[in-house]
Formats: sequence, C-alpha cells, structure tokens
Amino acid sequence: MADARHVVVLGGGVVGVASAWFLSRSGCRVTVVERREAAGLETSFANGGLVTPSMSDPWASPEIPGMILKWIGREDSPFLVRVGALPGLASWGLKFLRQCNQADWRRNTRNILRLSTFSHERLHELVRETGVDFESNPRGTLHLFRDPLSMEKTSRTAEMLRAFGVRSRTLDPAGCATLEPALRHQVDRIAGGIHYPDDEAGDAHLFTQRLAAVCASNGVEFRYGETVRRIEADGGKFSAVRTGAGRLAADACLVALGTESAARLRPLGIRLPIYPVKGYSVTFPVGGWNDAPAVPFADDGHKAGIVRIGDRIRVAGTAEFAGRDRTLNPKRIANLRSLFLSLFPDYPERSGGDAWTGLRPMTPDGLPYLGPTPVEGLFLNTGHGHLGWTMSCGSASIVADLIRGREAGIDLTGMTLEGR
Ligand SMILES: Cc1cc2nc3c(=O)[nH]c(=O)nc-3n(C[C@H](O)[C@H](O)[C@H](O)COP(=O)(O)OP(=O)(O)OC[C@H]3O[C@@H](n4cnc5c(N)ncnc54)[C@H](O)[C@@H]3O)c2cc1C
Repeated sequence: MADARHVVVLGGGVVGVASAWFLSRSGCRVTVVERREAAGLETSFANGGLVTPSMSDPWASPEIPGMILKWIGREDSPFLVRVGALPGLASWGLKFLRQCNQADWRRNTRNILRLSTFSHERLHELVRETGVDFESNPRGTLHLFRDPLSMEKTSRTAEMLRAFGVRSRTLDPAGCATLEPALRHQVDRIAGGIHYPDDEAGDAHLFTQRLAAVCASNGVEFRYGETVRRIEADGGKFSAVRTGAGRLAADACLVALGTESAARLRPLGIRLPIYPVKGYSVTFPVGGWNDAPAVPFADDGHKAGIVRIGDRIRVAGTAEFAGRDRTLNPKRIANLRSLFLSLFPDYPERSGGDAWTGLRPMTPDGLPYLGPTPVEGLFLNTGHGHLGWTMSCGSASIVADLIRGREAGIDLTGMTLEGR
C-alpha cells in the first residue's frame, strides 16, 4: 500500500485523530469521518488522563477470576459483571478467562509495555513538533496501598516491570507523604506506595481536540456529524465507505471506531472480540483548595485513579460489564466520590463534581488490533481498552507506517489480527 494517497479514517477519538496526524505528516491526504459534532466526545472525553506504561499489566491476570466471584453482584465492586450482560459476554468472557494465567499475563504485559513505551516517546515527539498543550502533569504515578497484602501483591508486578526496564521506587507511608504533601494526614491509613516517575498525565480530550485543529490546519478534512453505515469491498479490496451522507471512496481505510469497530467489520467477515467495558469518572474543580494533591495516584484495588489535570482533579475507573448501557449509575458515581473523599476529607466542595461514563473498547488480552486485514487496503487501529490514551500515538504512528508500506517502529507480536 506504498502508494496510498487518500486515506479515510473512521472515528475521531484520540486514536483516530492521532492516526490522522501521523498519516497526514507522512504525506497522505486524510479524511476523518466522525458521527459526533466534534473530536474526542466519546470514550476519549473524560478518562483518567494517565499516560501510564506502568499499568501495562492486562486485566486478564491469574487473580481476576477469583476477584470477580468474590465481588459478584456488589455495587461497590471495582469489577462488576451484571447478570443481564452474561449472554452477550460468553464468547468474549471465555477468551478473557483463557488469558488469566501467569504465562499469558506475563507475555501480554511485555507486549503492552512495548507499545506503551514506544507510544509515550511518539507523544513527546508530537508535542515537540505541534506544540499541542494537553495540561501535562509529568509527576509520574504513585500507586497507593491501603493494606500490606495488596502492596505485596502489586510489588510483584513492579518487580516484573523493573525487569522489563520500567523505573519505580517503593515508598513507606512517610515517603509517600514526602513525595505528595497532601497525603500527610493519611500516613496512618496507608500501607505505602510504588512511584513510577516516568509516567505522565493530561487531558486526552483537550489533546484530541487541539490535535484535530492542528490536523485541520494541515489539510485534514473532518466530516463531523456523519455516521459510517457500511465499509464496502470489491473483490477482496477496500473500495469505499457508505455514510449517512453518501459514498466516500478512498485508496485505503483505517478503522478507529472504538467500541463500534467490531459491528462495522463483521459484515466483511472480520470478527474482533471487543467488549464495551463501562467506566466512570468524576471531575472536581480544585478551586481554592490550597492542599490539593499534584501527584497522580492509582489505586490498583479499586481499579481507579485520582489525577490532577490542570486546575481539576479527576477520579476515574472501575469496570462494569453491562453491555452498551451508558446510564450514569448513582451508586457507582458515589463509590468514586467516596474513594476520593476518604483520601482527601478536607476537600472543601464535597458535593460538587462532573460525573461521566464511557465504554472502553476492551480486548481479552488487553492489546489493540493494529495493521492490515484480509481485505486489501483496509486497516485496523482499535481495541485499546483501558490504555487507549497511553497507546494512542504509538499505535497511530505504527499504522501510518504500515499503510505507507513501511516497517513498523516496533515488533508487533500480539498486536495484529494474525494468530489471535
Ligand atoms: C473511566 C475510564 C478511564 C480511563 N482512563 C484511562 C487512562 O487513564 N489512561 C488511558 O490510557 N486510557 C484510559 N481509558 C481508556 C481510553 O479512554 C480509551 O481506550 C480511548 O479513549 C479509546 O479511544 P478510541 O479513539 O479508540 O475510542 P473513542 O474515543 O470512543 O473514539 C471512537 C470514535 O468513533 C466514533 N464512531 C463510532 N461509531 C461511529 C460510526 N458508525 N460512524 C462515525 N463515527 C463513529 C465515536 O463517536 C468516537 O468519537 C479510560 C477509559 C475509561 C472509560
């Protein structure tokens, strides 16, 4: 596909817009089709904001099946499977459970980490080149533990990540408070933490919107408010996209539709196991809170993060298997709110905060699908699950290279359609 001149990118989330940037930079003419009125309004809207290679261990781990059973039916569960969702979850769930063993977990971690680290480097390059300001917080991530047992379990992950080259430092409670003085009143209530200094955080939505503006000024066409209905192929070769506004022909097509990707690809015989795993966030204004934390936190036990982004604090996370339901469940929001207030009881505006829910495009092994499909000219960049912001720039640069017929920047083992 070295001569791909016009590429149509389906989806204007963080993954689609980053792809548009790398494609346009490599000389392609690019059209982005997005059903919403602007870029980044779906899952990329109010996520946790963490650019976090330190969370490269996939959800499919040896401990997860036991954890799901232990928490079954509990609204305060970090990992909640709704009974109504079970019929639609069977095939994906079996694939997920098959990955919940030590060997697959380790292999998947290594593959995710390779992509996440590469992606973080590409993000820095992109920012240097475009000047896009996404309210970056470069203070790393502090994984906090309330009890010694969970700290010990996670220390094993930290050790493995260290062996793979990820820097981290284990801290006792006093060390956590030295790193983040806002924790000084919590020293008796935490067991300690692990700080990953090379992580970063920032607003994925701001990044997506501002990068879309840069792309537009570089000639990328954005067709907002246009829904993709069908991808057309002729004799095994991509020919055009049918949208609500008509037929759009191009030399190549890149699918970056997040949780909608699988449905648009199925008629072409391409089956992707992508489940929409629901998560929530609540964003609090810092306002006049002088003691507000600056270091981003991760709470592995609650599958949540508490992240300072500019003059806001975002509490985000939890996983709910509930099909495509997007209702804002007040109990799940209350859980995030109390997670935040239990750590920072002196936050002055206790009742405020903007609640949001989004659907992660989750694959069983935690890795996205990148690159070619059996349909010539049709490419994938989708299924980034809980780390789509982290993996966006790397994935985008890889698929741009593949579409141009070039070598990808890293080994793609575990990230393509082949063998999965
Ligand atoms: C609560 C929560 C917290 C998270 N925290 C983090 C974090 O801290 N760090 C991290 O790295 N990741 C995080 N994630 C994951 C990350 O947000 C996602 O992986 C990422 O946003 C996926 O990006 P995307 O572009 O693939 O999907 P999306 O942002 O959903 O983009 C897909 C786009 O396709 C469009 N679309 C869909 N169907 C059609 C159609 N038929 N026609 C036209 N357009 C269509 C949609 O409107 C949408 O804009 C979190 C997710 C959640 C839910």
